[in-house]
Amino acid sequence: MEEGENISVLLGIALDMGETLDTRKEFIKFSSSLIQHLGYSYAALWLLEKDRYKRKYANPGQRAAGEIIAGDAGVIHLLREKKSCWVNYGDAAFGELAQGRDLARGVFGIFFLAEPEGFFKVYKEGNFFEKDLEQVNTLMGRFLNVLRNCLHHEKALGEINLCKAMEQKLNDAKAELERLLLENEIMLGEIDSLNEELDEKVLERTRELESTVAKLREIAIKDCMTGLFNRRHALKMGEEAFIDCGAKNEDFSAIMLDVDNFKKVNDTFGHVVGDKVLMILGKRLLGSVKRDDIVGRYGGEEFIVFLKCPMERAVEVAHRIKRSVSANMFVIGTGISIPITVSLGVAARKPGDTFDGLITRADNQMYRAKKSGGNELAVG
Ligand code: GH3
Ligand code: MG
Ligand code: MG
Repeated sequence: MEEGENISVLLGIALDMGETLDTRKEFIKFSSSLIQHLGYSYAALWLLEKDRYKRKYANPGQRAAGEIIAGDAGVIHLLREKKSCWVNYGDAAFGELAQGRDLARGVFGIFFLAEPEGFFKVYKEGNFFEKDLEQVNTLMGRFLNVLRNCLHHEKALGEINLCKAMEQKLNDAKAELERLLLENEIMLGEIDSLNEELDEKVLERTRELESTVAKLREIAIKDCMTGLFNRRHALKMGEEAFIDCGAKNEDFSAIMLDVDNFKKVNDTFGHVVGDKVLMILGKRLLGSVKRDDIVGRYGGEEFIVFLKCPMERAVEVAHRIKRSVSANMFVIGTGISIPITVSLGVAARKPGDTFDGLITRADNQMYRAKKSGGNELAVG
């Protein structure tokens, strides 16, 4: 190659470099130029990575890609001198540099790279002159600049990609968080409405239970036919009032009453009519006493009244009851009117009286009234 022609080839190669920012493309372009225009048959770029030289690119491509030279390899001493050199076939280092490849007689050129650290290796069959070394050395300066730009670009691209990936992850996490928050909000809303529903149900059940309890209490203390207190509750209330009056030294009286000839009512009109008579009687009894007085059904057609009052007032009440029963016929449905009378016994608490003793006295007086013909009251 003539000198002028040679320079224009070198210039062409140099100008052609650095058009892209792609390391591989730039290496291929450079190494292809060396092979096509300067007669080399092989070029490779090795870079130092973690204390080892790694072959990054080779032209023509190698079978064992990414080959590595460890720090203790013999070729290293050449690189440590950090200057370009060449090795002829027959040199001691040649065998190592050839690394078992089936190479013809020729020369290896090693061009040290400072930053990035590594070396560029070329192989040429036949002769290799100082001039060749200088030519490649000149081009290497330019290639090194291109290489640095490419590597910076690759690093920047890597960082951008990393940032993009992180941003994507962040966006995904935000979207997931928003979805979870929304889900949470929906769930809280559902829990709220379920709670409200539950509260309403509990309230409803509580009301039902309260009304059931009230009904049961009513059933437990009242006589279902007349609506008056039943015997057990009337006696319980009566005894409490008796004890209370005794403690306060206040008056206390009892009236016992029994329907006269009630069996005859049943026999004449039947039990259903008899029941109705007892119901009407209950109402008349309640109408004849005060709210505080205790009125109960003592037995079948027998009733008892407890009053916190002296004998005279109890007798008055007994007369009022007798009159309220006998003054008006008991009208059952249409067409049945029955005259009813009652016999009453009145007793007032005396010093030393027991509750049972007072009841017995009222009962005895009631029998006395009955014996005198009924529709009577006796006092004792
Ligand atoms: P006296 O004037 O002596 O009291 O006579 P009496 O017929 O009222 O008394 P007796 O003890 O002979 O009969 C009471 C009747 O009252 C008998 C019983 O069948 C009836 N009786 C008791 N409880 C009920 C009831 O709940 N309904 C009805 N229809 N009758 C009842
Ligand atoms: Mg009786
Ligand atoms: Mg009777």
